[in-house]
Amino acid sequence: MRILVTGGAGFIGSHLIDRLMTSGQEVICLDNFYTGRKRNILKWLDNPYFEVIRHDITEPIRLEVDQIYHLACPASPIHYQYNPVKTIKTNVMGTLYMLGLAKRVKARLLLASTSEVYGDPEVHPQSEDYRGNVNPIGPRSCYDEGKRVAETLAFDYHWQNNVEIRVARIFNTYGPRMLENDGRVVSNFVVQSLKGQPLTVYGNGSQTRSFCYVSDLVDGLMRLMNGEHTGPINLGNPDEYTILELAQTIQKMVNPDTEIDFKPLPEDDPKRRQPDITKAKTLLGWQPTVPLQEGLKLTVEDFRQRLGSPEAPRLASI
Ligand code: NAD
Ligand code: UDP
Repeated sequence: MRILVTGGAGFIGSHLIDRLMTSGQEVICLDNFYTGRKRNILKWLDNPYFEVIRHDITEPIRLEVDQIYHLACPASPIHYQYNPVKTIKTNVMGTLYMLGLAKRVKARLLLASTSEVYGDPEVHPQSEDYRGNVNPIGPRSCYDEGKRVAETLAFDYHWQNNVEIRVARIFNTYGPRMLENDGRVVSNFVVQSLKGQPLTVYGNGSQTRSFCYVSDLVDGLMRLMNGEHTGPINLGNPDEYTILELAQTIQKMVNPDTEIDFKPLPEDDPKRRQPDITKAKTLLGWQPTVPLQEGLKLTVEDFRQRLGSPEAPRLASI
């Protein structure tokens, strides 16, 4: 099978490519390298079954493929809020072009949607039939509303044009290859503790998140793509932690001497988030297997190597 991964040089995309390549597929990685890095896909560049195309999905492209994992979109608030109009274009025009491509070549398309479609949820935990509590004009809207429109587009192409779609609602995912400067909570706390800096907890740290290790998520994405169910299906780890608990866990694991520094809570920061994964369990036979402690250890090790290696400055530039 020839498989297109948009956003393939990014954090989740590159782990997915590793799995697809090792299972003998032919892969095309399409990326504009906004938050993706060549170093994430470096090991496949000489492989004859791998191709990389530098392309921005806000422009159309013609390719012959059997499946499309559509992941291209910056995921961290710092990066998606840097140019909100671009984020909307990526989600709306980019998804439209990818669905158009899927329609033309009769490929199956999996959309990487997000728990952000639930906004600051009033229902807990969040199941797929909850319609969300999203601010249409806040700092997170370009991403949240962009993904909501992307889901609408996917279902309308499915109903109107018989495009085969799969929609994954991904909850917070972490692991090796997260960018050092992406401002997400796991990468921030790990980098801060490795550098002996205070851990920046926003608000009083009582807001919650549920963290899924990247290999579990990739497994869920592949099961969804190759299964019979359109979705939307939540993919995430239902173990819920307060942000203060996460800070203390990483502090204890990496450097107990670091302090915790409480900073103001960003606007529209969701208070609680936990996936109901009943659908993923029953329809895909999927549930996460990597406990937080174990996943954090692997993540810390990756950051330690990247920050400490003499190669670090050179690698950071590719
Ligand atoms: P990432 O920022 O590491 O990867 C996104 C990739 O898309 C990058 O390689 C980037 O260069 C590329 N990209 C961005 N805009 C593009 C454009 N216009 N044209 C071509 N390429 C473009 O993020 P990630 O964490 O790997 O997330 C991947 C997908 O999963 C995203 O769609 C994101 O919304 C979704 N998701 C991620 C999480 C998470 O916790 N990581 C949670 C929910 C949803
Ligand atoms: N957060 C924090 N300190 C940081 C970065 C994030 O306390 O240095 C908080 C943030 O306010 C949010 C949670 O951690 O409540 C998760 O933030 P992240 O940006 O990782 O993901 P999202 O808000 O999109 O779930």
